Amino acid sequence: MIPKTHPRYESLLLRDKVKNAFKEGYLADSGMIAHGRGESFDYLIGEKTTETAKKACEASVAMFFLAENPVLSVNGNTTALAIDEIIELAKVVDAKIEINLFYRTKKRVAIITKMFKDRGWDDILGTNEETLEYINNLNSPRATASKNGSYIADVMLVPLEDGDRAEVLVENGKKIIAIDLNPVSRTAKMSTITIVDNIVRAVPLMTKIATEFKEKGLNEDKEFLETIVNNFSNEENLKDSLASIKLK
Ligand code: ATP
Ligand code: MG
Repeated sequence: MIPKTHPRYESLLLRDKVKNAFKEGYLADSGMIAHGRGESFDYLIGEKTTETAKKACEASVAMFFLAENPVLSVNGNTTALAIDEIIELAKVVDAKIEINLFYRTKKRVAIITKMFKDRGWDDILGTNEETLEYINNLNSPRATASKNGSYIADVMLVPLEDGDRAEVLVENGKKIIAIDLNPVSRTAKMSTITIVDNIVRAVPLMTKIATEFKEKGLNEDKEFLETIVNNFSNEENLKDSLASIKLK
């Protein structure tokens, strides 16, 4: 048990979640290394959501409400850190949820599927090997796509994603929203919108913004939503995120 008074309580709690996911068998060992990389960037931005990340979250929500077929892609890390938050976001922006694993095994897919079903989310996509398509005919586990999900998606959330897959998806004409604490990763640079923030903060913030838009009926105001998206520059936003890294 980590005492709540520990100065690094929150961070240690997340580390515990990732370690448990590995022990439970649905997170690859390299997922723990990816988490460590994220931690180091989180430390540098002060472990809180910056104004810059907030802007990226707002633009993402606008993009979701403009989408025809939004999909939230989940991997082991995302499931370990933010399964409930992802389900909440999917409900409010009316998105599908699809499993995509860097190191895909039947066992990992089965455990994650069960975790979503246990929480009442039955329609999890990307689970059936036989019916999976491959984007651009790339026969790589990175390009798996379910017929009703990422294969036809126009907007996709790809948290903690690898650059190769981000590239495949962008080349395929999809609008990609990444959540990545590293503002200089290939994923961050390649994506349409990159939220440089920890997934545990970014996803609930998007849900909050989406709920507020809905309360005001703004989710149906195309002009309002398009203005937000058009005023967003990922290049500028990434520059601002880099500037928020403090080395002292
Ligand atoms: P790329 O392939 O895009 O160049 P990479 O190879 O450096 O990136 P990966 O291991 O492929 O990194 O992807 C994991 C990414 O997820 C890293 O950039 C890491 O900073 C980020 N990350 C890890 N944990 C979190 C988290 N909790 N919230 C947000 N981002 C995270
Ligand atoms: Mg990578």
